[in-house]
Amino acid sequence: MTIDTQTLAPKRDPMGAAILDYLTTGRAKTLTVMSSMFDDDEMPVDYLFRTTDSMPPLELKALEMTRGTTLDVGAGAGCHALALQQRGVSVKAIDVSPLSCEAMRRRGIADVECINLFDPRLGGGFDTILMLMNGTGIAGKMSGLGGLLRRVASLLALGGQILIDSSDLSYVYQDEDGGMDIDLSGKYYGEVDYQMRYGRVEGLPFDWLYVDYPLLSAAAREAGLDCRIVAEGDHYDYLAQLSLERTNP
Ligand code: SAH
Repeated sequence: MTIDTQTLAPKRDPMGAAILDYLTTGRAKTLTVMSSMFDDDEMPVDYLFRTTDSMPPLELKALEMTRGTTLDVGAGAGCHALALQQRGVSVKAIDVSPLSCEAMRRRGIADVECINLFDPRLGGGFDTILMLMNGTGIAGKMSGLGGLLRRVASLLALGGQILIDSSDLSYVYQDEDGGMDIDLSGKYYGEVDYQMRYGRVEGLPFDWLYVDYPLLSAAAREAGLDCRIVAEGDHYDYLAQLSLERTNP
């Protein structure tokens, strides 16, 4: 499997286009999320601009636990990076979306880089790495989760932590009797494909992984990371803290 280290072309960056539009005009057209597995949905663009007053408790917990030099991976419109910067935290925001990065710069985030997490030019040494709003998504599929965790672990300073959230999607497949309508011989139920459209800007389809906590912690252990659940949300979602395993003296 080759790992993508590219950034998006602006004409293939619907979420970035929506973010920049919302920032400059105060409103946005419909950002449509398509999937082969679900009906078309609409992503409320203002949600990407949420402030600490409207962030879910899991994210507030992550911000509260953030310390030291911080990397915000897939920072989007920069809501977490901005909140941290305002608290005096030294934070670098990265995203593959050039238009989102432009929006973050315009919002006053001092250290923004349009770079793929897997680009070897991205330097490490971070005390905290934030991966929020389903941070496991970047793995794409279950087969990419180990590689994602090893990559993020390699960017940590000694004693550093990764704060990552995800959800157990099994509820999507629950039938009325509480049973599960899951094909056990098929792919993992948290593997989703998406494609986004904003006006005439259509992105390429991409894979996005949601992973339940037991599977995340098993993958973390295999990647040499300690994993603990920090908080649980009210919709099968959770926040986990991953850190480099301490080697016993
Ligand atoms: N963290 C933000 C945005 C989440 S949306 C928030 O909570 O509001 C996920 C973001 O990850 C998108 O902006 C997308 O462009 C970015 N992204 C996806 N793959 C990436 C990669 N490999 N490297 C860096 N950013 C990535």
